[in-house]
Amino acid sequence: MLSTFKYNRFMINVTKTFFPPLEEYHAILKTAWDVGWLTNRGVLVLELEHKLKQYLKVKNIIITNNGTIPLQIALKLFGNNGEIITTPFSYVATTSSIVWEGCTPVFVDINPDYLTIDETKIEQAITKKTTAILATHVFGNPCHVDAIDAIAKKHGLKVIYDAAHCFGVNYKEQSLFNYGDVSTCSFHATKLFQTGEGGAMFCKDRDVYNKLYYSHNFGHDGHLEFHGLGINGKISELQAAMGLAVFPYLKTILKERKIVVEYYLNHLKELDLKCLKIREHTEWNYSYFPVVFSSEKDLLKVERALNENNINARRYFYPSLNKLPYIKEQTMEISESISSRVLCLPLYVGLDENNLKIIVNIIKQQLQC
Ligand SMILES: *Cc1c(COP(=O)(O)O)cnc(C)c1O
Repeated sequence: MLSTFKYNRFMINVTKTFFPPLEEYHAILKTAWDVGWLTNRGVLVLELEHKLKQYLKVKNIIITNNGTIPLQIALKLFGNNGEIITTPFSYVATTSSIVWEGCTPVFVDINPDYLTIDETKIEQAITKKTTAILATHVFGNPCHVDAIDAIAKKHGLKVIYDAAHCFGVNYKEQSLFNYGDVSTCSFHATKLFQTGEGGAMFCKDRDVYNKLYYSHNFGHDGHLEFHGLGINGKISELQAAMGLAVFPYLKTILKERKIVVEYYLNHLKELDLKCLKIREHTEWNYSYFPVVFSSEKDLLKVERALNENNINARRYFYPSLNKLPYIKEQTMEISESISSRVLCLPLYVGLDENNLKIIVNIIKQQLQC
């Protein structure tokens, strides 16, 4: 008990990585030892891609070394150093990838209930320099993909979705990864499905798939030929082994997270705070539990009280990305306001009712005084 406490600053953290049984991970790793092959799309990577493709019912998948490289690759293909219409409410990687690839982020404010980009404000932000839309299905909540698709078609723009939070989300009876020209995911240790570090990119079009594929492996077309410019986005066998060991537990992971989310929903509903509104026609994955307080003061009060009790909630996502130091001043009223008031509560497999009771009681006490 004491030694665990020494290594983890908080007893209850905002998330906790799902570790499969070590023997099961070992048994899968043994394949890499037997074959003597550690990377360059070995048998474990191929098997994980195959399993995920079937499980998610997607047409094409390429798994990668993290969830940021797919964003960069997609922007390299479609950005053309132009203006990218994007959301200010996401993890920093969404914006930093745009700048890193020599494009210019043009922010469009968010919908205050869904927290995704406000599709009704996209068209007025389009200029001659706009090349693509990069929107985030934040917390696994789908953007208004149909409206965005129509706008993109009308203006000849590409659509990239940062779907880092969307493992297992279905929208209108199919994987959310099936929407957009390219969709990406993260398998980072803090995400719902994890390979330590890892990620994936998805697309429907065969031609786009080929480009993504070559791009993630230096442009290699066999040993001696090259198919354009590329980078190293490959994932190793060690990481794929982790993914294969976690894979059989996906049902359990989703089921247990749902129980936690339902507890919060049932016990927080009378309080002065707002929970995430999930878009209609969505089968959600219970990936995060953000609450939006009525003021930043309330948030700080609750955060402090939780911390004093060894509980770590996180301010996902703060600051609003238009406020990053390398971004030209743009005001995003709704995103800035929500960013200052949103806190993600602890949510992971194994967070039991006793601890949930403690968390909820602390929030209640703070909001009632
Ligand atoms: C986690 C995350 C990423 C980056 O994924 P990594 O695997 O850490 O590179 C990108 N976008 C969003 C919205 C994220 O939450």
